[in-house]
Amino acid sequence: MASLTTLSKEDLEDLHSSLWNIYKQEQTKDLHLNMSRGKPSAEQLDLSVELLQFPKSYTLADGTDARNYGVLQGIGECRRLFGDLLDIPAGQIIMGGNASLNLMFDTLAFLFLFGTERKKPWADERAQGRPVKFLCPVPGYDRHFTICEELGVEMIPVPLLSDGPDMDLVTRLVKEDEQIKGIWCVPLHSNPQGVCYSDKTVDTLASMTTAADDFRIFWDNAYGVHHIYEEVPLKNILKACEKAGYPNRCYYFFSTSKITFPGAGVSLIASSPDNVKELLGHMSAQTISHDKLNQLRHVQFFGTSENIHNHMTKLAALLKPKFDIVLQKLQDGLGASPPVASWSHPKGGYFVSLNVFPGCAKRTVALAKEAGVTLTGAGASYPYGKDPKDSNIRIAPSYPSVGELSQAMDILILCVKLAYIENKLGIQPK
Ligand code: PMP
Repeated sequence: MASLTTLSKEDLEDLHSSLWNIYKQEQTKDLHLNMSRGKPSAEQLDLSVELLQFPKSYTLADGTDARNYGVLQGIGECRRLFGDLLDIPAGQIIMGGNASLNLMFDTLAFLFLFGTERKKPWADERAQGRPVKFLCPVPGYDRHFTICEELGVEMIPVPLLSDGPDMDLVTRLVKEDEQIKGIWCVPLHSNPQGVCYSDKTVDTLASMTTAADDFRIFWDNAYGVHHIYEEVPLKNILKACEKAGYPNRCYYFFSTSKITFPGAGVSLIASSPDNVKELLGHMSAQTISHDKLNQLRHVQFFGTSENIHNHMTKLAALLKPKFDIVLQKLQDGLGASPPVASWSHPKGGYFVSLNVFPGCAKRTVALAKEAGVTLTGAGASYPYGKDPKDSNIRIAPSYPSVGELSQAMDILILCVKLAYIENKLGIQPK
């Protein structure tokens, strides 16, 4: 296909009317295709169904009966399994409930209520007119931004580059402004761009000088073992912080939501021994213990961290054809017109990030919706839902079947082109 960008006004008008006819035909098909959220497909979930046969026994190595109350930090067996997977000492891990987002929300809420070491609660600072600010690499994960909005954290977007956040900007901002108290990071196969942080980025985050003495990194390694095309290493941030003399700087989050069952897996938070002690203090007022039977279920199902990697290889085999289709369709449909759209080439994770021509994302998503293809709302990957360029669209290929995905991508590409031509010709949406 010739580049859309080189067509004359008349040619664009002709193309628009022929694409519009195709679009109208698509609308008559009454499709219901959903690429809005990173949900595993039923086939992926089937790979973990045997988990439900466990636990086969309830007595822990130290004799504790896992059916009863207790062991707030999480069973040693489970902390060792994930400690081995993530290279974190089991003593520095707390197993949470069914979702890491919960741990993220609670950790931030604890800081607002109590501050660190029960000094300087962040809510008090805010009440005294000193707002709490977080750096938010963009595009990023909408639910991180929702947590910030709910707790009244002011969000400062920073561009996410190919090897992590723009660290020149980050280091300057955190040095200048003592109200910048934290940064959100999804260090491997980020949501939605698939960015993987370089060693240099990790080291700089761990060692940079911050004006706030209670600065925190919220390290959400949700896709830490979710490699599809390539296994990407990640430098150990907890060790890097310790080495740099800031052992308490980072909270590390992880869960099995995209490994076993979303909403019914296990989650964890890891940090320095001091932070772990402090967190356990707050948590002990919240709950007597989390679901140890689910922890044990995961331990007995996986056995070893190597088996978790093997399981991820099977999941990747199901995801790869879907990512292949998305990337191939984008290349075939839009590759000839680079200014109209560009997209990420993730090595793993759950998403492809599509940047359409500035000013066209909302319209593209609306057109797709009216033709039966639901995408994540345009702007969702930016704080306050505001994409300044109205350009970014998140594609989540995991849930639909390969056939549905192929159909949905054809419609999406059609909508990208229609929105671009409307924008160029100044056509008002019909
Ligand atoms: N973090 C990121 C970056 C995610 O993409 C997701 C799932 N979409 C989560 C956290 C949610 O994790 P959980 O289910 O453990 O709350």
